[in-house]
Amino acid sequence: MSGAKTYDVAVTGAGVFGAWVALHLARRGKHVVLLDAYGPGHSRSSSGDESRIIRMGYGADEIYTQWSQRSLAQWKELFAATGNEALFRKTGVLWLAEAGNAELQATEEVLQRNGVLFESLKRGGLIARYPQINLDGIGCGIYEPESGVLMARRAVAAVVAEAVRKGVELKLAAIAEPRGKDAIESITCSSGENFAAKEFVFACGAWLAKLFPGILGNRIFPTRQAVFYFAIPGGDGPFSPAALPTWLIKNDECYGMPDLESRGLKIAVDRHGETVDPDTQSRIVTACEVDEIRRYVAYRFPALSNTPIAETRVCQYENTANGDFLIDRHPELNNVWFAGGGSGHGFKHGPAVGEYVAGQLVDGGAPEPRFLLANKETVQRRSVY
Ligand SMILES: Cc1cc2nc3c(=O)[nH]c(=O)nc-3n(C[C@H](O)[C@H](O)[C@H](O)COP(=O)(O)OP(=O)(O)OC[C@H]3O[C@@H](n4cnc5c(N)ncnc54)[C@H](O)[C@@H]3O)c2cc1C
Repeated sequence: MSGAKTYDVAVTGAGVFGAWVALHLARRGKHVVLLDAYGPGHSRSSSGDESRIIRMGYGADEIYTQWSQRSLAQWKELFAATGNEALFRKTGVLWLAEAGNAELQATEEVLQRNGVLFESLKRGGLIARYPQINLDGIGCGIYEPESGVLMARRAVAAVVAEAVRKGVELKLAAIAEPRGKDAIESITCSSGENFAAKEFVFACGAWLAKLFPGILGNRIFPTRQAVFYFAIPGGDGPFSPAALPTWLIKNDECYGMPDLESRGLKIAVDRHGETVDPDTQSRIVTACEVDEIRRYVAYRFPALSNTPIAETRVCQYENTANGDFLIDRHPELNNVWFAGGGSGHGFKHGPAVGEYVAGQLVDGGAPEPRFLLANKETVQRRSVY
């Protein structure tokens, strides 16, 4: 190892979390190497899909509303500075639920308190505005006009490009589990190359459970999640972003987006699928998954009952037990950090995660208790959505 370059920080994982951690550290003057086994936003990573929702509503979980606000501002700032404005699509986000839904009521209170622009909609108004949705069982809605969609894969590429411009070194390297006592001096990749640094951040998404089996094997729960794009009728119709916002229907456990970049109606089930290994799970949708989504689309979007499925993707959530992020030090190695547990809602928060991790490494300060390893249970009870 003599003569090897020593970085201030080695960040392993160039998904949305690792990319923003590297960028924020570089902005704070740190010399950073960003390592990924397969490349930023690759197709098996959680950040690798075309699009991800950014919304402010989080029920009573105000910290995530505030992090979404901070993150949206930073996403827009980055896109404006790098000529990537098209990577945020202000489709608006529509929450739908039965009348009197407690989570929507809590969401309204939090949005109000945090100055988020929103509109409360009653059933009559919803029916008039969204004739393309069958609103059976829906009694109220919240519309966030300033929220929308991040073009995920390309957004990660834009963050990494900016990080590299700021001096971050990007390398393809599959890193092995770090071992040592109290602290480590370097990490090693499969080709045997060492990367020496003062501090190490592991932002490895679903792979955290595999890389640190002893500590995280039963605290990060990777689940299979299928995504569908339904073909829509030709012309500028009811599934265009002008007519249909991004939407989430609470009790259906489903969400979707209008026709962005001509991919069709994106739709997915938010319920956790089976436990998977992110390296080996099949990326091909099953007949069962197709049947379920076809029945759902025929029910909620009757005009699309007989249209073909144009594209599919299979990804994984990297859940903690309740959906809170995991951002904390390794319990034995005091210069090793975990940043993960995005739990199916993490993408939008990349900028705030990066800012927080950089703050913890550079300034120290009191950590957010919700993110600590000590608060990560080994039995799943999802409460953050
Ligand atoms: C279907 C689906 C829909 C979602 N919808 C939304 C949404 O609408 N809005 C939202 O905000 N969030 C959403 N999410 C969640 C969000 O996408 C994730 O929380 C987020 O992308 C996680 O990013 P990450 O950087 O932690 O992990 P990843 O993107 O998985 O990145 C981890 C990286 O670490 C690398 N890595 C792992 N192990 C090693 C190793 N040993 N050596 C080197 N590199 C390694 C991997 O190659 C990978 O690139 C969704 C997720 C899915 C799957």
